[in-house]
Amino acid sequence: MHLYFSLLIAFILIVTACSTKEVIQTDINPPQSEAAQLPTKDEIYRHAQQMSQYPRKHIGTADWEKGMNYVFQQFKALGLQDVTKENFATPVWDVQSWSLNVLDGNNSVNIPCSFEYNAGFTNAAGVTAPLLYIGSSLESASEKVEGKIVVADLNFLVQNGQPNPFVRPNHLGLPKDNGTSSLLDLYWRCANRGAVGMVFILANSPTNNPEYMWPNMDANAWPIPSVFVGKNAKAQLENFADSGKSAKLVLTGSRNANGQAYNLVGTLPGQSDSVVLVVTHGDSPFSGAVEDGTGVASVLAQARAWSKMPAKDRPYTLVFVVTAAHFFDNDIGSRKFAEKHLNDYLNKTKLLLVIEHVAGKAVEFKNNQAVATDKLSPWVIYHSKGKVLPEVQNLVRTYAPVQEISLSDGAALSAASGFQAVKKDLDYVSIVGIPWYLVFSEDTIDKVDKDALYNANLSILKFTKAYLD
Ligand SMILES: [Zn+2]
Repeated sequence: MHLYFSLLIAFILIVTACSTKEVIQTDINPPQSEAAQLPTKDEIYRHAQQMSQYPRKHIGTADWEKGMNYVFQQFKALGLQDVTKENFATPVWDVQSWSLNVLDGNNSVNIPCSFEYNAGFTNAAGVTAPLLYIGSSLESASEKVEGKIVVADLNFLVQNGQPNPFVRPNHLGLPKDNGTSSLLDLYWRCANRGAVGMVFILANSPTNNPEYMWPNMDANAWPIPSVFVGKNAKAQLENFADSGKSAKLVLTGSRNANGQAYNLVGTLPGQSDSVVLVVTHGDSPFSGAVEDGTGVASVLAQARAWSKMPAKDRPYTLVFVVTAAHFFDNDIGSRKFAEKHLNDYLNKTKLLLVIEHVAGKAVEFKNNQAVATDKLSPWVIYHSKGKVLPEVQNLVRTYAPVQEISLSDGAALSAASGFQAVKKDLDYVSIVGIPWYLVFSEDTIDKVDKDALYNANLSILKFTKAYLD
């Protein structure tokens, strides 16, 4: 099965299986040594806060660079060795401005919108064309999309009564050469028939926020601009389209096909050159406090803890990695790292530990807004079969809500997938939180549970030590 499709299926399975449960708070009394090794609760939280300073950290852009530079300085300050920016070539899509205005007589009616990542850019004047509303599918040849700005409903798949923003049946966001997407994907169906722009209404989103970004894996250039609008704009846009109004769609920015990015790597030598990889990713759809500020904070916390131990207490070499990107080109950051280090690290890897967006609060929806609660959103722990399992179960008992998924041959739907694409038989544990807002601009620092972030790192440190014993 095609990898992209497997990933979608995996996500459907996970979100079906996971619902937000009440957290079972267990008393955790850390042994002095581990508490002394970890940074303080405030210090770990500050890393997540620092990583959420920038509006969006898309691979290769200036905001992304600021976040990555922060990590680079922290790696240096912790005394990691061989701290390196490992460059690789990648397209860089850098958005500047976006707007949607319907021309109604002498009036121009602004419809709040957000860019679709990786969509085609316009010039500053934008593209002006008649609106055509098609509902949620392109039914027949009678719908003449050529020369139109097409307005379509994007309905998230509903599971357990809740729309799952990671699964979009009529706009898969997959590469254009993917057979499945050409049949189902409204973006490509309309673009291929001459549409000049797309407006997707987030029609069944639980909020009215248009600032949404699918974890897009496509590195190809997309031909036409595309924006999202909130569901409250639906009736208005349908009326405008039915009455033959035109709109001006602006999406400016640049796409550098020959861009650059880098993974950040730092090491701590131990008693053997066998390797433990501790990994997260440094990109995010928006400011990314949880996704993946908490992942970065966790890698920094683990690095700090191991750096406080004498080398004789480290049985293996620790390699800390913050990859360039999980949200672009099929987990390009992990994949580039794995390709580069197949022989020196991956073939000597005892454990690949991937930590992403842990300790995000669950939200509830009030008046079309997502409001943080005092509960945590669920985690999924993917792991390879075998000896990893008992230690994972310890972690599960220490900290909930967690669902375990043991994958022997499938790819984890996380920043572990790029490693697995290069080397299938890695022993790995991939800890990934899945709050609803990961792909929305609601992913802000108020969603990070400071206590949970600390406790998660305490558990992860204990687990890693136990695993390596
Ligand atoms: Zn992530």
